[in-house]
Amino acid sequence: MLQQKPSLLIVEDEEDILALLHFNLIKADYNVTCAACGEEALQILQQQTPDLILLDLMLPGISGLEICERLRDTPETAQLPIIMLTACGEEEDIVRGLELGADDYVTKPFSIKVLLARIVTVLRRNSETDSVQDEKLVRGDLHIHPGRNLVKVAGEAVELTFTEFRVLEALASKPGWVFTRYQIVNTVRGEDYAVTDRAVDVQIAGLRKKLGPCGHYIETVRGVGYRFREDLSS
Ligand code: CA
Repeated sequence: MLQQKPSLLIVEDEEDILALLHFNLIKADYNVTCAACGEEALQILQQQTPDLILLDLMLPGISGLEICERLRDTPETAQLPIIMLTACGEEEDIVRGLELGADDYVTKPFSIKVLLARIVTVLRRNSETDSVQDEKLVRGDLHIHPGRNLVKVAGEAVELTFTEFRVLEALASKPGWVFTRYQIVNTVRGEDYAVTDRAVDVQIAGLRKKLGPCGHYIETVRGVGYRFREDLSS
């Protein structure tokens, strides 16, 4: 028997896009199932659990965001990787989707090459189990020692506040992931600190300054939030 191909469910109501995706993903050697609306997607998901779902947000009937929420609320699909297909100008929905637990998004019109790369990345991330907590995170010239609240930039120790440390640790532990401000707030919540969107921006600005030559590792994702860069070479 052949090795099993990863299975994808595409949820998209625009026929042209659905056909394009179907064609290219089959060609890229995935098992592909298609749904043209949210209801159909939910029906399919009752029969089978794909390895990843490509989810258009603007759907007739049940919206993409609603599907995302339902999947996350169901134990069997709580970890199912979701890449949202979004349109330009849907930043608010992107933020909402990421907060509901979607893994990533691509904005239409997207290049198939970019989408394929995202799919590979999300599938890989999902198969990696969380690394040991005490392990040092090394990202370019930046060394983060989670157990010891210690950060070094090119070998030099840098003093961060506890909140800054937590924000950096969260971002750096998932390079390439976009964190909304709300998600960043959540990672530091519980400390007696009144965190607002504005406060997150202030924390990031402070972090970038203290990280000096590594400051640019933290990228602003316009209208959405922040991300630790995957490619640190430039
Ligand atoms: Ca649509």
